[in-house]
Amino acid sequence: MGRPHRVLAAGLVPALLLLAAPLQAATPPCRAAMATRAIAETPSTPAATAAAAPATGEDYRQLLRPTGFGWPRLDHWCVWVEPAATGGAGQRWDALWLGAVERALGQWQQDLAITRVEDPAAAQVRILRRRPPLLREPNGRTRASHGRAQLALVAVDRGAGWILEPQVLVQISPGQRPEATEANALHELGHAFGLWGHSDDPADAMAAVPGARPVLELSGRDRATLRWLYQQPTNFGQPLPAAPASR
Ligand SMILES: [Zn+2]
Repeated sequence: MGRPHRVLAAGLVPALLLLAAPLQAATPPCRAAMATRAIAETPSTPAATAAAAPATGEDYRQLLRPTGFGWPRLDHWCVWVEPAATGGAGQRWDALWLGAVERALGQWQQDLAITRVEDPAAAQVRILRRRPPLLREPNGRTRASHGRAQLALVAVDRGAGWILEPQVLVQISPGQRPEATEANALHELGHAFGLWGHSDDPADAMAAVPGARPVLELSGRDRATLRWLYQQPTNFGQPLPAAPASR
């Protein structure tokens, strides 16, 4: 008596899975943060620390540095870009800046799940049209640059409890040639999406020292490094391993 039911059930299950699959594969929404807390970079458990990767020669994974909580990457990123002015003298320059940043973002979008959002509170990556402040080096000298990415580790409540997230502020100078803006944005966004380190090859977008020609497309090594990074286990995007620090 039970056998026909079992056959029926076995036939139904794959059909149900097929129905459910598109729902599971759908991009999760970007929700505004209800609360955000900075957390210290010290991991709560030693096991959370990712080890530096051995070199393979096909990418530059060994030059990347993980955080105390592991590799700061997410399966899905919500990105906010400062909008262009809608009128006035700056409008044309703002539009050139925005176009260059969008082209750079488009390069990363070929390999990563990225959603543009209109609310900065819904984003993990915020891109500002702003010249980064001078950087003071340990030797006391200051250094100017046209692009900077700064990483903060945060606990964020987006309505479903505390989640560990990387929060990245990217500053890209206005007033550069569009090609320079684009190359800068391509590089800084690489940091934002988890490539915290520099390549030793000037042909890579993540080169420590840029070559004579601006790199506007990700190289094979950039993409290989990214692929490797996104195969690594991570605590980011997951519920916090422990209660967030209260300070
Ligand atoms: Zn850099």
